[in-house]
Amino acid sequence: MGTVVGGIALAKFGAGAAFADVLRVKSSNTSLGAWINNGLIDAGGSHEPYSFVVRRGGQSLNARREYEYQQSEEVIRQLKDQGVEVFHTHLYKGFGMAAEMPEMEDTVRVAAIVHRLGIKIDTYIQWETMMYETFFVEEPRAQEWYQVDAFGQPIMLEYGYQQSFRYLPCFSNQEYIDYLKKVVRYAVTEVKTDFIHFDNFALSAEPYSCHCRACKTGFRNYLRKKYSAEQRKERFGFENVDYVNPPRWNADNPPEKLRVIVDPAFQEWIDYRCQMMADALRQMADLVRSLNPDIALEINYGGIVGYNSPWLRGADHARLLPLTQVFWDESDSKPELLPDGRLITSIRTYKVARAYRNVVLTYISVSETAIAECLAFNQTVGFAGVSPLTADVVKYVAFYRKQRDFYVGAEDLAPVAVLRSYPSITYNNASAGLRAIQVEQTLIQAKVPFRILCDEHLSELSPTTCKVLILPDAECLSDEQLAAMRKYVAAGGGLVATDQTAFCDEWHRVRVEPGLNDVIDGPVPEIHSRTEANSASANQPRRKQYGSGRTVYLPALEFDGIRPPDEPYFTLGPEFWKRPKNWPDLVDSIAWAAGEKLPVSITAPDFVAMNLVEQSKKRRRIIHLVNYDIEKNPSMGNIAIRCAVPVGRFAAAVRLYSPEFEDAKVIDFRMQNSDAVFTVPPLRAYGFVVVGW
Ligand SMILES: [Zn+2]
Repeated sequence: MGTVVGGIALAKFGAGAAFADVLRVKSSNTSLGAWINNGLIDAGGSHEPYSFVVRRGGQSLNARREYEYQQSEEVIRQLKDQGVEVFHTHLYKGFGMAAEMPEMEDTVRVAAIVHRLGIKIDTYIQWETMMYETFFVEEPRAQEWYQVDAFGQPIMLEYGYQQSFRYLPCFSNQEYIDYLKKVVRYAVTEVKTDFIHFDNFALSAEPYSCHCRACKTGFRNYLRKKYSAEQRKERFGFENVDYVNPPRWNADNPPEKLRVIVDPAFQEWIDYRCQMMADALRQMADLVRSLNPDIALEINYGGIVGYNSPWLRGADHARLLPLTQVFWDESDSKPELLPDGRLITSIRTYKVARAYRNVVLTYISVSETAIAECLAFNQTVGFAGVSPLTADVVKYVAFYRKQRDFYVGAEDLAPVAVLRSYPSITYNNASAGLRAIQVEQTLIQAKVPFRILCDEHLSELSPTTCKVLILPDAECLSDEQLAAMRKYVAAGGGLVATDQTAFCDEWHRVRVEPGLNDVIDGPVPEIHSRTEANSASANQPRRKQYGSGRTVYLPALEFDGIRPPDEPYFTLGPEFWKRPKNWPDLVDSIAWAAGEKLPVSITAPDFVAMNLVEQSKKRRRIIHLVNYDIEKNPSMGNIAIRCAVPVGRFAAAVRLYSPEFEDAKVIDFRMQNSDAVFTVPPLRAYGFVVVGW
């Protein structure tokens, strides 16, 4: 049934006009590790030094031998033979360099083997651990460097009940940052690393944010620097922030139940924590660049998986990913289509990565679909696993290496954009975060080519590069952003806004009149009294022409079925990853607002997802197809596609590539205006179609 509905809705998009100049997000990337642009196939090895295995306890009596084996030439050779190009291993876990030096020297020896074998080395450095028992012995001043809670107690890195020896160092403290730089310097100059992995790149959720002296002083200085005295008065009602503190909590008001964050000091504290982490990372990036700009930088900070990362972890991808080339997402949701219609996927994480020219590392070896999804949306392998690799991974790595030319340099061709508004989602994840997820689910499952935008990208907004901008309940928008959107729509851009979009400014102060009501046929504000729309007529999409552009207002994205109960911190786990009940309205609205056909349309079952990329210099567009239900539906049969080529061109050939057969299959096609129209022969799990001109 879903197949038919999806097919009908999508037919409206057609595939007429070509997009000569798609929105290419300007890369503010710090240009480290340029070799990553040629793709990444990383695998280990183990990232744990033996000393940590011992301190953690419960290890096998064989642990020392295992530690040695995991960094042996035998393992490195085996991985290389399986197609791995970067070997991942331990370097620094947080005991202090003096305590860890024998094992750090092991890494130097391992790196020499790795380089002799002609591959690269990826070294593990712990960002957020100070194992004080040894660290204080080496550096007594470090007793001032770790994070403390509001009661002055050390904040620990939590792993079960048993790792209370892991204090969290504080990144408001320059002395600790300077210490960590010594580790980085060792990695560059002694190990001669090619790739630095910072693990545990995250702070703790409230109430466990740091209240140390450096944080309190740093926070107040930040406010003084960020705002003039007059602005501070507007922000807080007073100018002098000498006694402003990080948030405090009590038993009746636990942070995990705070739904909408309006307290200016709380909002600024979130901002401060995110900025502190980004600033510390920038210092590392600057150091690495000064020593060897060929080294790539990676952080393990997580992906876009429904939790409020700035609030919970002090991690804002818009500030971090311009500094990195790669990041880890350790969430372990297996990609699949569930019987209730939820498509579980990592696609939104890959999309955010692509917006910042980053590669994602994730556990692709969990299933063939995960590997296929990774090739389709990550456009490279990322993390292949640990030795020995699974048979599926080996097969896909071989395929990727053989067909690499179709992945390297490919740009996402995505005329539809979703804004993930930082203040909207950070201050109200339960609503704005959910709406963003619902919109993304709709686009993924309707096979509409889209990209994810962050606030900073709005200044580059133009109808020549973005056909439709979607604002999923983007309630907090600044006056500047509203002005940029007005200009964009007036010039011919399409806009789809939902729910309480533009009800507030960027501080979540309620606007007297919703900020886009001149552009959209918008609502009357009833902030924070929202209910799911209960009558179909009240929730009809409202279309409007504004200047040369088109807008649609959707009063509510309705949750399909019973909304799952709230999680602590209003985290939106996979149980929330569902298209809204009125998703066909959303798809229709996008099609209308676009004003012209999108470059691709695909009629395929619900268990198929697609990604469209382009290699303009090689004059080809590539459509990747992934099966999310291989076990129950082991064939993606006869998928009908219309794919536009640039105006005035004719497709020269259409070919299908897949790890499931040896040589490319030539596909018959016909041209309809600028569109190549064809049917894809059956595929089991994954393949891509190349339309060349
Ligand atoms: Zn602190």
